[in-house]
Amino acid sequence: MANPRIVVFEDLDKNFEQLKGPLAARLEGVAEIVRYEGEREVKDGNWAAAEGWVREFLMVPAPATLAIVDSDLTAFSHPAPQQFIRAIADEQAIPTVHYQSKVESDHKIKRLRRWQEKGIGIEPGTDHATIAVICADAALGFHRIAEKVAGSGETPRLLDTLRNLLQPPSDAPLHLEQFAIGSQELLGVIDARGKGDALRFVATWMGYLIFNRILAFPGPILNKVATAAYLSIAPVELESPDIQEALLPARYAGPFNGSGAWWRSALDTIIAASLDKEARTVPTGHVVLEKLLTRKIKASRCHDGEELDEEAYLCILTNDVVCSRHSDTPEAWIPQGADRCRIHTDDFEALKGWLGML
Ligand SMILES: [Zn+2]
Repeated sequence: MANPRIVVFEDLDKNFEQLKGPLAARLEGVAEIVRYEGEREVKDGNWAAAEGWVREFLMVPAPATLAIVDSDLTAFSHPAPQQFIRAIADEQAIPTVHYQSKVESDHKIKRLRRWQEKGIGIEPGTDHATIAVICADAALGFHRIAEKVAGSGETPRLLDTLRNLLQPPSDAPLHLEQFAIGSQELLGVIDARGKGDALRFVATWMGYLIFNRILAFPGPILNKVATAAYLSIAPVELESPDIQEALLPARYAGPFNGSGAWWRSALDTIIAASLDKEARTVPTGHVVLEKLLTRKIKASRCHDGEELDEEAYLCILTNDVVCSRHSDTPEAWIPQGADRCRIHTDDFEALKGWLGML
C-alpha cells in the first residue's frame, strides 16, 4: 500500500505553518503532506470548475488518507466551502477531520452529535498545534485500518477485522455486532462499488466507528479522562511515568491510541492482582496505585468540585470527571455499551430546556 497522503484545506498561511510543523514532526518520512492551493478563479460563477479542482486534489494521484479541513476557507480565491469539500469526501469515503477556531454557543449540542457524523470534529477553539497532533494520530490510524482491510482478502469479514484491529483482552465485553447490524450504509457498500472502492468505504466506516463511537464514548475502552475517573485519580496523574508503567498491561494499542486509552477489564485485572487475600471490599484504583507506587496520588475531582473516593464517569458534554450524584444517563444520547459515560445534571437540564423537553 502507498504511503499515506494527507491533504490540508487551510486558507491562511500562518495557520497552515502552525499545523504543518507538528504534523511533519510526527509524519516525517511516513506520509506526504500537501496543501490545497485555492488560488484559481472561477469564471462566470461556474462552481463546477471549483468542484473539479477539489475532487482532483482529494483523489489524484491516489485517494487521500486523510483530509484536514478548516471550516472557514473564505480567503481562497474561489468558493470552496467546507460542506462542499465534505460532500465529495463523503461520496468518495475520504476520511475527514474538520476544525474551527471560533467557539459557538451550541458547541455542547454538537458534541452530542459526534457519533452520527461522517467525519471527525475537533473541539472548536482547539489550538493548531493540538489539532495537528490529533490529525497525525488520525492519519496513522486510518492508514493502519486501510492496510488491515486491504490485507484481509476479497471480502473482509467485518467483525473479525475490527476485532483484529482493536485486539481486545479475552474478557473485554465488546459487542461489535450492534455496530454492524442496521448500518444501511455499510450493507450497500459491497454491491454498489468496485472492489478497491468498497475496501476504502469499509475502512473509512471502521475508522469513524472506532474514533467517534468506541473511543469517544467510553465503555470497554476508556480514554484518558474516563480512565482517571474509573481509577479515582486526577487525569494529570496519567502523565506520570510510574503510573503509565503500572497501567501498561491495560494500554489500548489499536488505531487512534495517540492520546492514550486503556482497556477497562485489564484495569480490573491489575486492581484484582493487588488484593490481599483477606480483603472484603475491592479498593479504588487510587488506593491500589498509592500502595503499589508507595507515593501520594492526586484524587479525582467531580466537575462539581468535590474530591472523589469512588469510581466516577466521563461527562461527554464537559469532557470532565463526574460522579453519579451530579449526573444523568439519558439513554437516547449515550450509545449502548458506553456505560462509563454520563452527562452532568446541570448541562443535562440546560440541554433538555434547549430541546424543549422541559
Ligand atoms: Zn459530583
